[in-house]
Amino acid sequence: MRGDSTFIHEKMNQVLSGNKINFDEALNLINSNDILTLSDCANNITKSFNGDFIDVEKLINAKSGRCPEDCSFCAQSSFYNTDITKYPLLDPDNIFSQAEKAKEEGANSFCIVCAYRSPPEKEFKQICKTIELIKNKIDIDVNASLGFLTKDMAHTLKALGVKRYNHNLETAESFFKKICTTHTYQDRINTAKIAKEVGLDLCSGGILGMGETIEQRIELGFALEAIHPDEVPINILIGREGTPMFGFNPISPEEIIKTIATFRFIMPKTIIKIAGGREVHLKHNDRIILKAGANGIITGGYLTTKGNKASEDLQMIKEIGLKSR
Ligand code: SF4
Repeated sequence: MRGDSTFIHEKMNQVLSGNKINFDEALNLINSNDILTLSDCANNITKSFNGDFIDVEKLINAKSGRCPEDCSFCAQSSFYNTDITKYPLLDPDNIFSQAEKAKEEGANSFCIVCAYRSPPEKEFKQICKTIELIKNKIDIDVNASLGFLTKDMAHTLKALGVKRYNHNLETAESFFKKICTTHTYQDRINTAKIAKEVGLDLCSGGILGMGETIEQRIELGFALEAIHPDEVPINILIGREGTPMFGFNPISPEEIIKTIATFRFIMPKTIIKIAGGREVHLKHNDRIILKAGANGIITGGYLTTKGNKASEDLQMIKEIGLKSR
């Protein structure tokens, strides 16, 4: 297998000179045993295209649980009996005060996330009012993740000044039917395309460790690359009790690092953000991942799990010689 140091350097130079790598080359990279060279070369690509900046984002779970979809990794699906706190859409003042807090804590973006298949009209209007409130008073990028969007909804969000729309592909197309039956991969691609078409930045990523093969991880990397995301959040499965993925064997830190490093070769200019599962699976290796291809983090917790405090993450970024954006 050509996964040695010379091969990795060759592929790095290929990417730095503006040429893409192909599927087999990506597979060789992810299967390399030379994790140090792979990480270093991924970091060189990141620095070359994105500098030393780390994108720091805070999320708010603005409407939790009771989602009608059956995504088998998700504690918010109404198909599974999990112990999460479920609540309807938070009122605008509540979301506003959390955006203020995110800004004070040093986050440069704030994402409003709701567990919907797609937003009901009345609640969409309320979310739009909330976005307006935040955009008028707080200097922070506002992002949104509200499920499937119509083009009209996407236009409205763009007109309100939303920067990024999140809609993950979650996994490879060849694996998707094993994790979800209530919608298709194409449904997900359609919303991602709508977001791009209206001029929103696209945030689209996936989850590692759901039982997919290494090849399917690479398949996901190229599927993401094909929809031209501005940001790719990578989550690592935390199999929650009550979901079909409870008790799944955790993916190793080495596998996570190699996957993210390889994704950097596939998507040299994209923000690759290490998201849910970071603290649980990587522990202090998150310092390593930010020098191995990733250049973004979610801080202060996730939708249904806790995370590091923003102050701890900002300190960590400083300690490793990087800057928060
Ligand atoms: S659509 Fe989103 S919120 Fe709903 S079950 Fe799937 S992942 Fe969870």
